[in-house]
Amino acid sequence: MNDRLDEYQKKRDFAATPEPGGADQKASQRHGFCIQKHDASHLHYDFRLELEGTLKSWAVPKGPSLDPRVKRLAVQVEDHPLDYATFEGHIPEGNYGAGDVIVWDNGVWKPIGDPVESFKKGTLQFQLEGHKLQGIWNLVRSQQEGKKKLWFLIKHKDDAARAQADFDVLTQRPESVISGRTLGPGPAKHKPRQA
Ligand code: MN
Repeated sequence: MNDRLDEYQKKRDFAATPEPGGADQKASQRHGFCIQKHDASHLHYDFRLELEGTLKSWAVPKGPSLDPRVKRLAVQVEDHPLDYATFEGHIPEGNYGAGDVIVWDNGVWKPIGDPVESFKKGTLQFQLEGHKLQGIWNLVRSQQEGKKKLWFLIKHKDDAARAQADFDVLTQRPESVISGRTLGPGPAKHKPRQA
């Protein structure tokens, strides 16, 4: 068991939710990342970076923007187990985070500098090699509001940057990178059934 997952496990009843329990975690050399679109009480995007055997996690209410002039609020939440990165499905009503989840993007992240030190300092810079997100990104801790740890997710100025007015990656590429499924607004849309 990984004690970094205490908070994750306390919040959930694994007899009732299909989410992974995180019982068997091994740190890997490869730094994976994923972004899940989560249609819970408020639609948001969960940004997760693999670090020290867990997924460091942020809830990004407005989702990522490719525009370096746009800062997106990212609220740090509890570490998630590594196998959460492929979780797609429905968290039943009455459970923590009830609603639909799709894997909106995934791939590899490459930290610039020592990621453990940078995380502690609250200034993470990294390269993303995803299906939808590429280039250099910054996660910058701003302040603590009560118990909430507030960061900003900001695209670095490089070839992968796009002006928000020209290209909104969230509306242009709404689909899951695993199943092709899309989510809300409104009830979850499933892939069309065969007649
Ligand atoms: Mn979430």
